[in-house]
Order: sequence, then structure tokens, then C-alpha cells
Amino acid sequence: MITSTNFLQKTSPWTNPDFLTSFITSQPNIFGSGAIQNLSKATSALSKLIHLTIAEFDTVYPTELELAKDLMDAGLLHNARKCEKCSCKMALRNRKGTVEWRCRRSNKTDCSSKSIKAGSFFSESKLSLKQAMKFIIMWITECSGPQIELQLKLSKTTICDWRQFLRGICTRIVNSYPPIGGSGKVVEIGESVIQARKHAKVTTLNEEYILVLGGIERGTHRIWMHTVPNRTKETFNATIGKHVDKESTVITNMFPAFDDLGKMCNRHEMLNQSIESYRFTEDGLEVSTGLIENAWTRLKSNGSADNTLDSYLDEFVVRQWEGGQFFMTVLVEIQSCKTDYRN
Ligand SMILES: [Zn+2]
Repeated sequence: MITSTNFLQKTSPWTNPDFLTSFITSQPNIFGSGAIQNLSKATSALSKLIHLTIAEFDTVYPTELELAKDLMDAGLLHNARKCEKCSCKMALRNRKGTVEWRCRRSNKTDCSSKSIKAGSFFSESKLSLKQAMKFIIMWITECSGPQIELQLKLSKTTICDWRQFLRGICTRIVNSYPPIGGSGKVVEIGESVIQARKHAKVTTLNEEYILVLGGIERGTHRIWMHTVPNRTKETFNATIGKHVDKESTVITNMFPAFDDLGKMCNRHEMLNQSIESYRFTEDGLEVSTGLIENAWTRLKSNGSADNTLDSYLDEFVVRQWEGGQFFMTVLVEIQSCKTDYRN
């Protein structure tokens, strides 16, 4: 899990080797007690992975073994394993294109063997490491379902499952984000209605349209979005209270559910959209909601939402928040899954 402390470090550029080094040394649970010795290996493996493209993938990693070694160096797979039967150190075996851990009893018999993916994010899937990493790269670069299907020869179900795994990673990341705004910061808040995808399981008219509340901090990429069940003050106040720092200056359109925000934050300005598109206060604050309106436009241009809207919003939020650091942030979160999945 990314804590709020190392979140602050994450806003620095990952491409900076000094930053990466300090990050890795602060993550002993991810990189093991040998972190210091493995530091340069980890730095170069992570950097190699985030700069990889689909076109050059098979040239850089012709076999599973080469990729497995870099994933180990990068901390995404366990880099050592003890036999569950005899506690001996296991060795890697590369056979018929797959790699596994095994404990060798004699020249002829094995004591035990274990998947290389055991205890990692990858253990959930039947895909080879190469297929999985290719999927991750195509998802990071926002390739469409049909593009992925064609390039990786995967079924629609597998693509859907993998999207969901990676959206789960985004949900973990979103849960580690602190509230946006703060003293001296301006946050634009708004609500929008999203139409459910045609084939989503819709049983009532209300379910065809999903209400989303969101906020964005001016001058940064910090953003949150969440589905809400209704437009009451209670619902809006509770959601905003969770996602926006109380010291913030908050700007919204004129809407009854926003009426109490002045009591919940340092300052609240409302824009009356029926008579003005923006205005300036006497002390020079621009009262406008263009940033949050643009965010809704970007969200909707991503295609319609399905019935897993919350994880869809989480993916959108992490992409917006992280910008160029998105791939690295996802890899770091995948590293932290290592201890969560034991088999
Ligand atoms: Zn053994």
C-alpha cells in the first residue's frame, strides 16, 4: 500500500535516478533487506520497463526468463523462494518456454515446484509474464479492446478480466490519495450525469443515468470523482468532506445541494451560470468552474461507463492525477501486491 508519506515523494519525477534511489531505499518491504545492494538493478529494471513499447518488446525480452529476471530486479516478482517441504533454497528452471521455481532432491526427482508468479499480482492470471506485461503496456497507452485482441490474441473475457485487475490497482492507488486542496488552494467542485452503457444491467430508469460528484485542485493534477446516490445536501457534504481539505477555497455552480459548503470549508464562492460564465471577486479570485467542466468532458470522451463505474472513475482519476508518472505508479502498486497474494 502506498502511504500518504511516500505519496508526497511520488509527485517528484520518476525519471530522476536520485529520487528513484531514495524511494527504493524507503521501501524495504518491497525490495527486501538486500535493497541497498540491489538498488542499481532495481532502478535500471524499473526504468527499462516503463520505457518499453510493444513494437520492441520481443526484441528486448525474447523469452520468459529474461523478463522474469527484470521483474524480479524491479521488485514485481519474488526474487528468491524457499521450498515449502524442506526449506531449502529453490532454483529457477526454464523449460518449454516457461519459468518456475523448483527444489531438486536428486538428479531425477524434484522435491517441490512453485509458479514464478506465486505471491505476486501476476498469480491471479493464466497469462504468461510476457503476455501480461504486454497487456499492461497496451492498457497504459490506452489501446482499445479490439487493438489488444488483435495484437495479443486474447479473448474478450481475458481482456475484460485484465482491465478489471488493473482498475483494481487504480482503486488501491486512489484509496491512498489524501484530500485535495488545503490552505491557499482553490478547488472547483461539480456534479455530472453519466449515461450507463447500453448493455449494462439496467433495471430502472434511474439506473440509466449515474450521478457523479467530483473536484479538481487548481494549479495541480489533483482530482477526485465519486458516484453518489442522490443530490441531497447530506450526500454532497459527506462526499466533499471526505475528499476536500477544510482549509480550501471552494468554487461551485449555484445549486441547492452546495448551499452549506461555506460552513464546511474556509471559503465558498458560487457561480450563477444563468447570468455569468465567470467573474472576479474584489480580492482577485476567479470564480469559474471551467476546470471541472473540462474534466467531465474528458471523462465522457473516454467512452461510456459500464456497470463497474466506480473502478472506471478510479482509473480516470489516477491517469489524471499521475500524468506522466502513471506507469511507474501502477508498477509500484503492483509491487506492493506481492505480500497480499500468497499463492
Ligand atoms: Zn525441498
